Amino acid sequence: MKSSDNVKPLEQRLATIQQQIKKACDKVQRSSDEVTLIAVTKQVSAARAQAILDLGVKNLGENRLEGLLEKQETIDEHGVNWHFIGNLQTRKVKELIDRMNCLHSLDRLSLAKEVNKRSTKPVDCFVQVNVSGEESKSGITPQEIEGFFEQLAAYENIHVIGLMTMAPNTEDESVIRHVFRSLREIRNSVAAKNLSYAPCTQLSMGMSNDFEIAIEEGATHIRIGTALAGTEREETE
Ligand SMILES: *Cc1c(COP(=O)(O)O)cnc(C)c1O
Repeated sequence: MKSSDNVKPLEQRLATIQQQIKKACDKVQRSSDEVTLIAVTKQVSAARAQAILDLGVKNLGENRLEGLLEKQETIDEHGVNWHFIGNLQTRKVKELIDRMNCLHSLDRLSLAKEVNKRSTKPVDCFVQVNVSGEESKSGITPQEIEGFFEQLAAYENIHVIGLMTMAPNTEDESVIRHVFRSLREIRNSVAAKNLSYAPCTQLSMGMSNDFEIAIEEGATHIRIGTALAGTEREETE
């Protein structure tokens, strides 16, 4: 990214991203209505998050409970969808559960069990998949997926709307594309089972540096941080 991009006003950044979304959708003949833009505000202030909402973005993503609480304290929450996108410690579920609309990081059975226990209604979740199987990454491996979904049947408050992944940190587009394509194929195989508790039609994939590839490969939810909200340092520039 050129340094001049960093100081663009928020409106311009949003317009650029919306154009990029449109272009990626056109390329594969998808409608941009199929893609939900989640503004990841983990690196910026509540005021900055409010400014993003004021531009008409309705979906915000946070990766820590503390960050979410801080935003919710000050923001006019009317009509906002809150997405929790980070690694979630089991002991924090209780406080988080009624404060989010969607959990993108369901990555283990013990977390499903706790979400099920603490919620009074079905929670929309994405199962996080570790497509590449790297040991440093959280998520269910492709080999474990089938068994994991079978076990989720026991938890009536878990409602899996899709799969989520993070691409490896690489410049190699073909590697990134392969990961997104694999996630789509796994999604298709789960969706084909027609599980009542796991329709699994959605794909949460794509961040600032790779969302266009993700859209081409079928992303329905993209999680954009630095390209939109930027970082705390940029806010003050
Ligand atoms: C921070 C984060 C993002 C946004 O990343 P950017 O590269 O800043 O767009 C997306 N998803 C998850 C899980 C994150 O933690």
